[in-house]
Amino acid sequence: MARYIGPVCKLCRREGEKLFLKGERCQTEKCAQTRRPYPPGQHGQGRIKLSEYALRLREKQKVRRIYGVMERQFRLYFDRASRMHGGTGEQMLGLLERRLDSAIYRMGYGATRREARQLVKHNHVLVNGRRINIPSYILRVGDKVEIREKSRKVKLVETAIALSAARPTPGWMDVDHGNFAAVIKSVPIREELNEPAIKEQYVVEYYSR
Ligand code: SF4
Repeated sequence: MARYIGPVCKLCRREGEKLFLKGERCQTEKCAQTRRPYPPGQHGQGRIKLSEYALRLREKQKVRRIYGVMERQFRLYFDRASRMHGGTGEQMLGLLERRLDSAIYRMGYGATRREARQLVKHNHVLVNGRRINIPSYILRVGDKVEIREKSRKVKLVETAIALSAARPTPGWMDVDHGNFAAVIKSVPIREELNEPAIKEQYVVEYYSR
């Protein structure tokens, strides 16, 4: 699947909040959203009152950008979630969280989801002992995810571990940092996602209009 390869700080500025897409830089004064907290472009500093539709569109774009998913694939997650039991918004976030790249990020082995995606693409990750290099692979309860033994000294991983020390470990996975591994304990519920700023109901309303 395709992915966005343009400048990411612009995305935060467009959404008007920090989406933490650049790892270490996001915690510093150099953060573009801190330095220029208005939308990018010539009219970025104009007065903007968002319509009800625009609010929902922005929320959908924000979630998509946090997880690094393009529109077509994001819509597929929504469609799949709408066929599942329970709230569509929560199920959709559950699917996004269980993507392999997102899980590696949550385990703390990628400073951002983009970095975690790179680890997956470059064959550094095993699922149930098998090499999987598909970032969108959806993990199931009971799956064991680990960083390959010879990949544990990769610079990207070492830096990410240092950066993620303060990040809470999600309750839906059992992380064993000694073995660079985790087992998926359950499907994540909304309270475990550590994404309080997401209004998933707006995404549902956007696609249901
Ligand atoms: Fe967003 Fe990070 Fe860039 Fe700040 S530094 S604008 S949080 S990606």
